Amino acid sequence: MKGGDTKWTIVGQGLAGTCLAWALWRRGMDFVWVDRGTGGSSRMAAGMINPLTGKNFEPSWRLAEFLPEALEFYAAVEIQLERKLWHPFPIMRLAGSEKEWRKIVSKLDAAEVAPWVVGEVAAPVGWVGAVEVGGGGRLDTRAFLDGSREFFEKLGYYQLAEFFGNGEAVIRCEGATGLLLGRYGPHRCAKGEILTIHASGWDETHIRIGAGGWLVPQGGGVFKVGSTYEWDELDELPTAKGRVRIVEIASRLGGEAFEVIGHDAGIRPILRRSQPMIGPLVDGGWMFNALGSKGSLYAPGMAVRLSRCLLDGTEPEPEVDFRAFLEQTRQDDSR
Ligand SMILES: Cc1cc2nc3c(=O)[nH]c(=O)nc-3n(C[C@H](O)[C@H](O)[C@H](O)COP(=O)(O)OP(=O)(O)OC[C@H]3O[C@@H](n4cnc5c(N)ncnc54)[C@H](O)[C@@H]3O)c2cc1C
Repeated sequence: MKGGDTKWTIVGQGLAGTCLAWALWRRGMDFVWVDRGTGGSSRMAAGMINPLTGKNFEPSWRLAEFLPEALEFYAAVEIQLERKLWHPFPIMRLAGSEKEWRKIVSKLDAAEVAPWVVGEVAAPVGWVGAVEVGGGGRLDTRAFLDGSREFFEKLGYYQLAEFFGNGEAVIRCEGATGLLLGRYGPHRCAKGEILTIHASGWDETHIRIGAGGWLVPQGGGVFKVGSTYEWDELDELPTAKGRVRIVEIASRLGGEAFEVIGHDAGIRPILRRSQPMIGPLVDGGWMFNALGSKGSLYAPGMAVRLSRCLLDGTEPEPEVDFRAFLEQTRQDDSR
């Protein structure tokens, strides 16, 4: 189903649903938007965008396209909400071993990496090397979600409600909840835990990444630090084991003296790595999901692409088309 006359129902108020609401609103669409008001990984995420990620120190998938789209999108919402949402931060990528440092150094001049590298910087005590990466930062996800909800509540679009129905005018932005129900075939959802800590005198000018984790300044001596990956116990309950692991990361990245002031857990919605998906469903509705670990980066651009599918009748690009993913999965299974 497509077209400007349809009154769509958006299910879910995470990053996916919220970006979609803005994208449809900007196109002058009327819609109903529901969220059950409990859980969701966007509410506890650190909101970080890190251009060069992972052990391989590689740009995120289609970074050069999605990052400017995301920043432009958040800037436009900041104007509507009259509130700062995007906080740019240089990222200090730390190497803890000679092997890791050699790998990073070997990538610095690569054509796809070099544009994001500011340069080598002095490594803090206990680290072998450090590189500053530009273009990153953090989205204040809570402020984005809460401000957007208030904005659309006032307009009469938003309702707190659980959605149980089906239907051809429904766009499912249900995050891990939808994937765990098995709606979209096999998933790779991963639970993650995160601590909010308070520390005095720590560096608040950089996001730090190293030791398999990250430390993201929130202002006023508060930091978010994470994270864990767990594929077997997919619930939203913080664990003692998770806390121990993240305390280790915080100690390594920041120092020994800090106070834990919050501990949360969520489930990253994953189908294929952190590659987002959109697509029509057999009941005539649509899905927007699979933002993985990179919702802040991909949700805005994907929402705009989905709005074009819904309103202009364009087809999803094959790479992000959920139907192509499903077909590939079927072929893999039959081999
Ligand atoms: C520990 C951790 C740290 C993370 N850190 C980062 C980070 O730094 N940067 C980053 O980009 N990403 C991060 N992520 C990933 C990010 O959280 C996800 O990519 C993103 O939040 C997914 O958004 P979503 O809208 O798809 O899902 P969700 O945020 O889960 O939203 C789905 C919403 O749908 C609602 N819902 C579901 N079913 C129904 C129904 N039937 N009726 C009504 N409502 C329904 C849910 O209640 C929920 O509110 C992190 C994730 C975790 C777990």
